[in-house]
Amino acid sequence: MAILVVGSVAFDAVETPSGRRDRCLGGAATYFALAASYLTQVRVIGVVGEDFGPDEERVFVRRKIDTRGIEHVPGKSFFWSGSYMKNLNEAQTLNTELNVFQSFSPKIPAEYQDTEYLFLANIDPVLQEDVRRKMPKVKMVCGDTMNYWIKDHAENLARVLKGLDVLLINDTEVRMLAKDNNLVLAARKVLDMGPKALVVKHGEYGATAFFCERSFAGEKGSITIPFRAPALPLAEVVDPTGAGDSFAGGFFGYIASQPTLTPAVFRRAMFYGSVMGSFAVERFGTERLQQLDPKEIEERFALFRQLSHLE
Ligand code: AMP
Repeated sequence: MAILVVGSVAFDAVETPSGRRDRCLGGAATYFALAASYLTQVRVIGVVGEDFGPDEERVFVRRKIDTRGIEHVPGKSFFWSGSYMKNLNEAQTLNTELNVFQSFSPKIPAEYQDTEYLFLANIDPVLQEDVRRKMPKVKMVCGDTMNYWIKDHAENLARVLKGLDVLLINDTEVRMLAKDNNLVLAARKVLDMGPKALVVKHGEYGATAFFCERSFAGEKGSITIPFRAPALPLAEVVDPTGAGDSFAGGFFGYIASQPTLTPAVFRRAMFYGSVMGSFAVERFGTERLQQLDPKEIEERFALFRQLSHLE
């Protein structure tokens, strides 16, 4: 089964207590695609500039990610720079240059029309809505967003939320979106806005899924109590960039790889999310996600089982 992701393909500059990089391949869609590529077939919709060359293309091709939906236009690719010097759990954005993203109008290649799973990575909700509308046959849609869209583009975002099966955002974003500081009450309010499930990412503390009363995984065995997956305690977090997108890639990639979505599949997907997030932060940029071995993924999944197993 294939997942289509729409989002940023970018160059990032980051500084963390472990060091700095002035230019590495990044972007929400890139992290998502690499993480999900170990679990299912991935297709990407995005836009890049002339600075995106054969070396960057190869990163996708080596993971058999379909890049026919990445448009190449004159100009510079999206550029983001951030610092984690004050807080490893939350990036401080130093600079965002939209560049070629400014006039981006997503086009869906005909070959992508049969995609069953759609991930709307963190971009302008107007673009998220546009892609959702152009993919009427998808059977499951997950999405992400960030403080910028929540604060200044609330009406557009509200329309996207109505069409989501799962929204994956972090603690701060949930509280901001719901205007409520209590996580449980905030989660309820967000679920009232449309998504059938909400996955709240807590950085180094894991992630919690909240579900709608009106069931998520079909009639039978619906899950309404929350479920929490831990994050792996690590001695060194080299670069937290993309951890959230990698979590989403592991989570949705696993769901897409399974014949049906059951409550048990949803829970395991939360663990695959944590597994991919834990790999992402071990090196700068997408370095670690580019060269994983399927055996390592299964070993880490087993480690997560042990980490949270109760006799
Ligand atoms: P994460 O750390 O999971 O929140 O994602 C970080 C990635 O998101 C980086 O690789 C950035 O290139 C990308 N990014 C940062 N800000 C934006 C934005 N406003 N729109 C789209 N992508 C962004």
